[in-house]
Amino acid sequence: MANLFDDRLVYIVYFEYMSAHKIIFYNQKGGVGKTTATVNLGSALSEMGHKVLLIDFDAQCNLTGAVSGDLKKPNIYQVIVGDVPASIAVQSTIFNNLYLIPGSLDVAGLSIELVNQNNREYFLKTALESIDDDFEYILLDCPPSLGLETMNALAWADYIIIPLQCEYLAMEGLNLIMRTISNVKKQLNPKIKTLGILFTMYQKRALLNQQVVEDISSFFSDVVFKTIIPRSIRLSEAPSHGLPINYYDKSNVGSKAFAELAKEVVSRVQ
Ligand code: ATP
Ligand code: MG
Repeated sequence: MANLFDDRLVYIVYFEYMSAHKIIFYNQKGGVGKTTATVNLGSALSEMGHKVLLIDFDAQCNLTGAVSGDLKKPNIYQVIVGDVPASIAVQSTIFNNLYLIPGSLDVAGLSIELVNQNNREYFLKTALESIDDDFEYILLDCPPSLGLETMNALAWADYIIIPLQCEYLAMEGLNLIMRTISNVKKQLNPKIKTLGILFTMYQKRALLNQQVVEDISSFFSDVVFKTIIPRSIRLSEAPSHGLPINYYDKSNVGSKAFAELAKEVVSRVQ
């Protein structure tokens, strides 16, 4: 009995002082499924009972809309330039356990605004430090670029998920991403790890899709997630209703895939 109590106490103390797992979705190529993965993995993790914060770090603000977020409230741009503390910019969503810092068009100008600042790659890290312990997972959606804002995301994160469309030249794109990550490790953030390569918009009848998955899986076998996100109309419809897929159509194949991915992510970060 005494042992059981001690174990629980250790667990509670450990849990309270653990900081969030910070994950970014990164691929400099546009339209590969970064935002879709951020929203739906975040929602699947929150459904498992984890407290999750989503950060919309793309000026397109697609992530904010996809969870019915409020763009008029304080946003990530105001946090990064120091106008608003991060805790004030965190808004609840209509979904249990799921929180959001909304995006802003102004994020597009950050690269120019920060260019002459000292430590310009670490503005995001400094701005978010105060909320590190408030969540179990913080998921950040990157813009499709390698500008200074993306460098800030890479300097802040613990883990990278690389969403990859199974198409022609995927391997070349992936090699470029791996080279960038290796440089980031050397120069900006030695603790950053690739959590996994995530195949997106997969169509099992498309021969090229199968071929790309086979080639990349054989080359990067220990990094590729077992879960593959299928192409599904329902996944592309859900954002226009402001709903993650597990609220829009729970029985959909995409919803099931993101629930599986969430389990894989939990086991990989542990
Ligand atoms: P950007 O680089 O512009 O930010 P992105 O990498 O964030 O794009 P998404 O916005 O997630 O990519 O997806 C691009 C488009 O493809 C969107 O219209 C989205 O709804 C659609 N899409 C993403 N994943 C799927 C899927 N598995 N099945 C069907 N459509 C999808
Ligand atoms: Mg996006």
